[in-house]
Order: sequence, then structure tokens, then C-alpha cells
Amino acid sequence: MDFLKTLNINAHNKGVSTGLQWLKTKGEKLSSFSPVDGTLIGTVAAADRAAYDAVVEKAQSAFAEWRTWPAPKRGEIVRQIGMELRQYKTALGTLVSYEMGKSLQEGLGEVQEMIDICDFAVGLSRQLHGLTMHSERPGHRMYEQYHPLGIVGIISAFNFPVAVWSWNSMLAWVCGDVTIWKPSEKTPLCGVACQNIIQSVFKRNNVPEGVCGLISGGRNVGEWMSADTRVPLVSATGSTRMGKAVAATVGERLGRSLLELGGNNAIIISAEADINIAITAAVFGAVGTAGQRCTTTRRLIIHEKIYNKFKEHLINAYSQLKIGNPLNEKNHVGPLIDTDAVKNYVDAIEKCKAEGGNFIVEGGVLKGKNYQSGCYVKPCVAEAKNSFEIVQHETFAPILYIMKYKTMDEAIALQNGVPQGLSSSIITNNLREAEQFLSAAGSDCGIANVNIGTSGAEIGGAFGGEKETGGGRESGSDAWKVYMRRQTNTINYTDKLPLAQGIKFDL
Ligand code: NAD
Repeated sequence: MDFLKTLNINAHNKGVSTGLQWLKTKGEKLSSFSPVDGTLIGTVAAADRAAYDAVVEKAQSAFAEWRTWPAPKRGEIVRQIGMELRQYKTALGTLVSYEMGKSLQEGLGEVQEMIDICDFAVGLSRQLHGLTMHSERPGHRMYEQYHPLGIVGIISAFNFPVAVWSWNSMLAWVCGDVTIWKPSEKTPLCGVACQNIIQSVFKRNNVPEGVCGLISGGRNVGEWMSADTRVPLVSATGSTRMGKAVAATVGERLGRSLLELGGNNAIIISAEADINIAITAAVFGAVGTAGQRCTTTRRLIIHEKIYNKFKEHLINAYSQLKIGNPLNEKNHVGPLIDTDAVKNYVDAIEKCKAEGGNFIVEGGVLKGKNYQSGCYVKPCVAEAKNSFEIVQHETFAPILYIMKYKTMDEAIALQNGVPQGLSSSIITNNLREAEQFLSAAGSDCGIANVNIGTSGAEIGGAFGGEKETGGGRESGSDAWKVYMRRQTNTINYTDKLPLAQGIKFDL
């Protein structure tokens, strides 16, 4: 396990840090077991309230200085982090794969995403533009500028254990904010590894202590952060259940929350689809990361004319899937995160059957040699109705529901007919169909693709979704604005004081 040594991960790790040093804590121990083979990789000491408060206090004092650094100088720190990540790409990608269970290719891809967002943020550090407006008053100038906000609390999910932190942190740092990260308690070592990687960059550049805090822990630590008025923005990625709790707590104190929650993503496969594209998009989308991406394809809405033929293609493609150790690049599908996730998968299959679902590819839990962790399951496909309760719900596992449509209006209604609104896609060579899908009367999701599946977004676009997905946007485009406070400035350079709206007030 050389990658653990490279990342400075031990059997017992401290889990609370101000960025430059690790703090002592009497918090519970989080044990990290690999879903790949069930091995205990290490333990991490979670934050107790005193350690949490110490990190927040350090972050407050760091912010007072960090916000005065010119944004391009902050960008230079992020550039160096990007260089460091390039050096640690293999080790960190391997840890992501081993601790979370996604394929090594996807683990490495996740670290590549971190590197990409660093590059994006470096450019952004010279482009935090406001607008200039024309004043209605003579001799006046009006403009707006963006200032740093303060502490950004980051709560992340297990399935992207490092990338989500980087999407938030790199942008927040160039914007002049300081961050405190609570990684998922299911992947705590990824949090420790990232902190180890960036510490040296912060040290050698004399970055004030407290710019990048880490508070390992469970839900209670996330709850402290949500309720804390010292944290103006809480960026939370995870289930809709968690998002509703965070939104209520942050809303109660009129703080700002950025929510990236569950999806229930569909691909519409038109009668005029390129079938090769459709099959690859559907199968990769449904089984990649063992169905544990927020953008995983959960539903296929297939035109009735090609329905039967497409079913055969699907059965054939699923029969070729290799399930096993994700560090072995020959395997397509790795394990689920833990045995609770396996139970949810089994329950969902039973519920689907009870509601009348017909499995054309059967599921099941794998046992025996190579599957000792108990977390490996068979990707499966069921004919189902969109109205089934189980189809309306996001089960974080490789279960794909398929259904038929006649008209494009009907397909779009099915696609939109779920509580979530993250990612959507249509496979078609028909321009009219594609444009209808992208129109105001088309997909209601934050992401709508043509001839690409639902999963695998690039960092250049704003990422996020509508409805129960939470409405937040992260990563590219102008997502940076949520990390800053906007200020409108009006300057009078005359010796008179004309009032707005022509109001007279003579003394
Ligand atoms: P989860 O909701 O169980 O946990 C996510 C994080 O929230 C963890 O760090 C957890 O400790 C914390 N948490 C849980 N309850 C909390 C509370 N009441 N207050 C504060 N913090 C709390 O989710 P998970 O199982 O780790 O991840 C899977 C879910 O995440 C799926 O629903 C998936 O779709 C979603 N997800 C969404 C996106 C996106 O960008 N939209 C990306 C990745 C994952």
C-alpha cells in the first residue's frame, strides 16, 4: 500500500486541522473500511466541539488577512496546489478508488477534475468582474464590485470524496474566502490526504493559518456548521434528506446555502437515435461508479418503435459487464460503499417487483472469493412505470428502470415527472426533437445534454440542478458569485447633491 505512505496516511490519523497544524480532539474515532476488500485502512479522530470552535476561530482571524491579499496572489497559491495535485495524482486517485470503491480510472479522473478546477480558478482570480452602470444623476458614477464573504463551510458526500471539496475550495480561496471542510464520514481518509497535500503549499507561502480548515466527523459536525452564524455560506452536497435539514437550519439564521443534492436522471432514446451512442451512454451512465453518481442514469425513456430491439442490446451489453476489484482495470463495476447501501439496493429491487416491475436483467448480491467485503452487487434493469414510488426515489445503486413513449411531449413529461432535477439527456439525430428537449418547454433539469449521457460533467460549466436537487450551482461559468458578497457603489464627484428619482430636499 505505497500510496498510503506517499499520502502520509497512518493507522491512526488526526482529523482536525487549521491548515498548518493538526489539533488534538476527544471526538469519536471514525474507522475507514475499504469496500473493495473489507480491510480497515485506518482510523481518523473526529472533531469535538472544542476542536471545531478552535478551527472556526482560526478561520475568522485568517479571513481578516486573506481577504486583503490581491486575488491573483491567491490564485498563485491555487496554481501551486494544482502542481502539487499533479504530483500526487496516482496516489490520491488510488486512495479514492480504494476507500470509496470507484474504478481506478474514475479515481484518477476525479483527481484530474481537481487539477482542472485549480487551472480554472487561477484564471478566474483575474476575472472577478463587476459591472459599471450609468447613473441617472449628473456627475455620478455607479458600479458594483464583489467582495469576499468569509468562512465557507463545505459538507461533502462519499461518492466524490475529493473533487467536490476542490470545486468549492479553489473558487472560494481565489474569491478571498476561507474554508472549513467536513468530509463524508464514509471517506474520512480522503479528507486527511488532501489536507496533507496542501499543507506544504500553505506553509511555504506563509498563508495565514486557518484558510483551509478540516473538521472530520459525522452528521453532528455538519449540524454545528449549519447552525453557526460565523459561517455565512454552507455548501452541502449529499442526499435530499440532508439538504432539507441543512437548508432549514441555515435559513433559520438567514445564512446562505449552496445545495447539491440527489438526482433521478433519465435519457430519452428517440426512434432516430444513434444506437451505438445510446447503448454506451446508457450502460456507462447506469453502472459507472456502481450507480453511485448523483448524475447516474436511473431511467431510460425509449421510443416504442425501437423498444424491443433496444432491450436486446441492453441485455447483451449487461451480460458483458465484469464486476470486481475496481483497482483492476479490466473490471467495469466495483462495490457499493457499504453493506447499508447493499441493503437499500436489495430493498429497492423488492419494492420494484412488488409494484409490478419486470426485471429483464436480474440483480443480486455477489458472494464468495473476491467479494468478501459483501458490497458487490449485480447491475440490473427493470421494466417499470414512472409512477412507481420506487422509480420516483433515488436509490444509490446500479438499478436501471426502462419505459416506453410514443410522442416527444410524452417523453419530456416522463423525464420531468420526478421530484429531482439534476441531469437529463436525449439521444437523437433529429434537430426538432433535440431543440424541443432544450427549449423552455423541454427538460426541467440543471443539465440537459444531446447525444451524451447524463453523467460526466466538465468543470467549465455551472454544475447543479433544480427542484429537490437543491438549486445550487458549483464549479464553472459564474458559479463563483455565490462565494462573494455583491456591493453597489455610487460616487458623486460634483459639489452638488442631486437626489435619485429627482426628489427635492432643500434646506
Ligand atoms: P448523505 O446525505 O448521507 O451525507 C452527505 C454529507 O452530509 C455527509 O458529510 C454527512 O455527514 C452530512 N450530513 C448528513 N446529514 C446532515 C445534517 N442533518 N446536517 C449536516 N450535515 C449532514 O449523502 P451520501 O450518502 O454521502 O451521498 C449520496 C448522496 O449525495 C446522493 O443523494 C447523491 O445524489 C448526492 N450527491 C449529489 C451531488 C450533486 O452535485 N448534486 C454530488 C454528489 C452526491
